[in-house]
Amino acid sequence: VLETRGLCMSFGAQKLAALSDVSIALHEGRCLALVGESGSGKSTCAKLLTRMLRPTEGTIHFGGEDVTVLRGRSDLRTYRSHVQMVFQDPFAALNPAHSVQHHLERPLALHKPNLSRAERTEAASALLRQVELDPATTLRKFPHELSGGQRQRVNLARALAVDPAVIIADEPTSMLDMSIRLSVLDMFAPLKRERRIAMLYITHDIATARYVAEETAVLYGGRIVEMGPTDRLIDDPRHPYTKLLLEAVP
Ligand code: ATP
Ligand code: MG
Repeated sequence: VLETRGLCMSFGAQKLAALSDVSIALHEGRCLALVGESGSGKSTCAKLLTRMLRPTEGTIHFGGEDVTVLRGRSDLRTYRSHVQMVFQDPFAALNPAHSVQHHLERPLALHKPNLSRAERTEAASALLRQVELDPATTLRKFPHELSGGQRQRVNLARALAVDPAVIIADEPTSMLDMSIRLSVLDMFAPLKRERRIAMLYITHDIATARYVAEETAVLYGGRIVEMGPTDRLIDDPRHPYTKLLLEAVP
């Protein structure tokens, strides 16, 4: 559904390349993990795919349509409703002044304008149940009244509210306690099966890739140095950098 060809991105007057020649494809009901160390260009790639940034070179196609050159606000807004992002910082996309209910019902109201108020609240509750939160206690809460893990669940529920075709998760568990990482990670896997969502899961930890992704791309210095089925990559790494990443896994 989402495909890039030769994506490049450089910043500033010196044209420092953050990303070079990145070609990846995301498929319905499948997950690609993008693995790399800090500064390797993972978040830059996510921002290009959601068109928060425009690539300096290369193309992005969504459902066959070239979205590389989208400019207009409304075109970009429509595109981003199909390609949702979940950020590393659980607070990043939440407004401290708004309840969980508001966070979910606002996108629902835009996406399904025909729902009655009661139906909208029911839809918000269903989204919370999908991420294993109890609507009775969660709907009225504000972001600061939730734990980090609960906040990430709300972020995911919010992304799901608009029935996206693609979800890009940028290290969604890296700011969470070890003890709850897996349970939050487990939220992502069923989305592929049940909702046929195409997913890009960004992480610096190659071991995480095995939990969520059929395919893995290893990013090093802005380039993909190795890409293939996750199991193959972990059992039989071919690039020296992939081997290094694996040696770092405890
Ligand atoms: P991390 O794991 O720390 O989140 P990352 O892989 O997400 O790292 P990016 O945030 O994509 O890395 O950054 C890649 C490179 O691009 C870095 O060298 C960074 O300094 C540079 N960079 C990113 N955004 C900008 C920007 N807006 N202006 C200038 N340089 C930038
Ligand atoms: Mg990043």
